[in-house]
Amino acid sequence: MIKVFGHYSPDTDATCAAIVWAWYLDTHTEQAATPYILGPLNNETTHVLAQFSQTTPDILPTLSATDTVAIVDTNNPQELPPNLAETTIISVIDHHKLVGGLTTDAPLTITMRPVAATATIVYDLITATGVDIPDEMQGLLLSAIISDTLAFRSPTTTEHDKAVAKNLADALTIDIPSHAEAMFAAKSDISAVSDDELITLDSKKYTVGEKNIRVSVVETTNPQTVLDRQVGILTAIETCLAADNETDDVLFFIIDILEEAAIVLTYNDFTKHIISTSFGVANPGDTVSLPGVVSRKKQILPRLKL
Ligand code: MN
Ligand code: MN
Repeated sequence: MIKVFGHYSPDTDATCAAIVWAWYLDTHTEQAATPYILGPLNNETTHVLAQFSQTTPDILPTLSATDTVAIVDTNNPQELPPNLAETTIISVIDHHKLVGGLTTDAPLTITMRPVAATATIVYDLITATGVDIPDEMQGLLLSAIISDTLAFRSPTTTEHDKAVAKNLADALTIDIPSHAEAMFAAKSDISAVSDDELITLDSKKYTVGEKNIRVSVVETTNPQTVLDRQVGILTAIETCLAADNETDDVLFFIIDILEEAAIVLTYNDFTKHIISTSFGVANPGDTVSLPGVVSRKKQILPRLKL
């Protein structure tokens, strides 16, 4: 049985791409497949799974040498289980930069394309085989594209992502703006999310020079609800750093989906320094606003420098 999964801090794309790719492998290839997630889901993903009548995948159990795995939505070993190298990796489907570090004993299939969502690639791969994708699976793919593109606001969005999303929305007679609005409302409801969870819910570890940084993001239509929790969030960052020897600092970005801007918490000398250097901001206060910045992948990570 092939275990299909995406990255830690699972998002809608990692989760839905895993479910749909596992469905395809399971129903249209020789091998059985099951999707997994690598942590608790955010409210947006939970909303999407409920909308399209999907149960939440199980959390991936500890992997062993007998496991066969298919990876989606990352190629970064830092975002994957530590003993992945012991397993048989049969494929990687991803849309992030090639990080390096994954090794295998046997050849594998790697499909990496510069599009805005792994779901777009999964759609292309399945439709190329002539297989019809059931409505629920189409709904997951559409939602994943809307999520990763912030409804086409993100500069990562390509014409192809838009075309695939339109095909899916037309087939399902779903209105993209209202579907996106409901997803973002679900994502923005963080009332039941603890301060500690906010740090890791949508978070990627990234190395800048000799510094290991956790870059955490909260996408919301209501940034004030996050700013109101600033004191608790800063305490949670301290707790997170105390528990994780491999991380030197946390950069916490609030992405205002509707205004298309980021607010970053610059709460100590290091975060003030790196934001000042990376984004050309003079004398940062406790927060810095970065108009137009919505994409960690395209507008934050590539700019980070010490
Ligand atoms: Mn992802
Ligand atoms: Mn993605």
